[in-house]
Amino acid sequence: MDKLSQAHIDELEVVEAIYPEFLQTVSERPNALIRLEIPVNCTQQTFTIQQELYANVPKASSSPITLDLSHLPPLILEILLTPAYPEHSPPIIRSLSSRYSWVARKSSQELKYHLSQMWTEGDSVLCNWVDYIYSGEFLDTLLPSRHISHRSPLTLAGLLRNHQAEALNEAFVSQSFPCPICLSSLKGSKCITLECAHVACRSCLSDFWGFCITEGDIGRVQCPFPECIKAGNEAGEEDVRRIITDDLLKRWKWLRAKRAVDLDPTIVLCPLDFCQSPVPGPPKTGDDTESNWDRLRTCPSCGYSFCSLCRRTWHGPHTPCVSSATAEFILEYMTLPDDAPKKAQIETRYGKANMKRLVAKYLEEKALKEWLSESTTPCPGCSVNVEKSMGCNHMTCSKCKQHFCYRCGTKISAANPYAHFSSPGQPCFNKLFDFAATQEEWVPMDIFNGL
Ligand SMILES: [Zn+2]
Ligand SMILES: [Zn+2]
Ligand SMILES: [Zn+2]
Ligand SMILES: [Zn+2]
Ligand SMILES: [Zn+2]
Ligand SMILES: [Zn+2]
Ligand SMILES: [Zn+2]
Repeated sequence: MDKLSQAHIDELEVVEAIYPEFLQTVSERPNALIRLEIPVNCTQQTFTIQQELYANVPKASSSPITLDLSHLPPLILEILLTPAYPEHSPPIIRSLSSRYSWVARKSSQELKYHLSQMWTEGDSVLCNWVDYIYSGEFLDTLLPSRHISHRSPLTLAGLLRNHQAEALNEAFVSQSFPCPICLSSLKGSKCITLECAHVACRSCLSDFWGFCITEGDIGRVQCPFPECIKAGNEAGEEDVRRIITDDLLKRWKWLRAKRAVDLDPTIVLCPLDFCQSPVPGPPKTGDDTESNWDRLRTCPSCGYSFCSLCRRTWHGPHTPCVSSATAEFILEYMTLPDDAPKKAQIETRYGKANMKRLVAKYLEEKALKEWLSESTTPCPGCSVNVEKSMGCNHMTCSKCKQHFCYRCGTKISAANPYAHFSSPGQPCFNKLFDFAATQEEWVPMDIFNGL
C-alpha cells in the first residue's frame, strides 16, 4: 500500500488545523513520511547549560551558564505512518533531532521511547505528540533538572538566547493589542512595550507625548493606561527616546531638568552642553558648617566633575573660582535685596558662607584691579605691572629692562628714549612729565554749597 489511508489523511488534517506551521513535508511514496518541526513554548524557567563530558575530558572546561527561557528551538521528527498505524502499531519515528542539538542524543533516544509509549491500540497519537513537545511537558521527563549538556555551552547559550528573542518578537508582532488612546485593536508590529510592561499604540503615543512636550506639560508624558496614570508614573527616558523625535526629546529633557531645579534649589544643571542633567547637591550633614568641598558636583549621568559656582571643571577646594566667570553672578547676588526669594535660593544652592566669601573676594579683586589700572601700567615687554611713583614718564622695566612710556604704554627705543616725548605731533609730545593738573585746577566754590 503506497497511498495515505483515509485515517492518515484525516489525522494530518487535524494536525494541520491545530498547528498549521509544524507539519513540514508529506511524501506519500513508498510510505507516508511526514516531518514535524515542533518548537517548544513553555512557561519561563531557568535552564543550565553545561559542558558535555567525554571519556577523555575528565573535567568540565567551562562553568555552567544559566538562562531563563520560555521558547526553545524546535524538535524535528521524521515519522513513518505505516499501514499498521493506528490500528496495530505506533507511527515509526525515523529520526528525532533538535535544532542546534540542544537536546542531547541520549535524551532524544529516551524521548522516542516515551512517545511510542503514549500510543495505545487504535489511537491517533500525532496531536498528543505535538502537544507533549510544544507545551514543554516532555521536559519534565527528559530534563527534570533542566540541565542541558552541549559541546560548547557558550555557543549554545548564544543561539538559545537569540531564538528566545526572535520567538518573543514574533509572538509580539502577530498578537493584537487594544490601544487605550485610539481604542482600536492593533497588531504588535504597530505597538511598543513600555518599561511598565504595558503595550500601547506607537503612533498614538508619539502624537500624544509630542503634544504634551510641545505644550510644556511633561507631567502627562506617561504610560496611557489608567493604572499608570493613577500611580502618577512618568515615562522613563528610554521609553521617551524610543517614541519621539530627537528635538522633542531634547526639549523634554530640558523641561524635566528645569522642573527639578525649580523644585530643589540644591540642584544645578550639568554644564556640559550635550548633557545638562540635573545634578543634586551634596548630602546634608547634621552640622551647619559649609566646606569648600560643597562646591564639588559630579554629574550622575555623564560623570563630569565641576564647581557648582563657576561651572568649570572642578578646580579643587583651595583654588578660587576664575573670577570673570562669576563676576556677573556675584554682582547680581549683591544687588538683590536681603528679602528677595532669589537671594535665599542662591544661598541654599551654594551655601551662605560660600557666597559671603565670594563677595569679599570679588570686592578685594575689584579694588586691586582699580588700583592697578590707576597706579600702574603693564610693561609692553613682559606685562608685569609697573608702578610709577615719581618722576618722568620714561620707564625701564625692572624685570625685562624694556624701555617704555608710562603715559601711553608703548615701547620706546633704549638708544634714544626721549624722541618719544620730543617729536611734535606725537601723542606724548612734551609729556615727559605729567603734573597732576586736575588737582590744581580751579574749582568753583558753588560745588560745595550743597554739602
Ligand atoms: Zn492608538
Ligand atoms: Zn503602564
Ligand atoms: Zn553631565
Ligand atoms: Zn569654581
Ligand atoms: Zn626718565
Ligand atoms: Zn618688562
Ligand atoms: Zn607715550
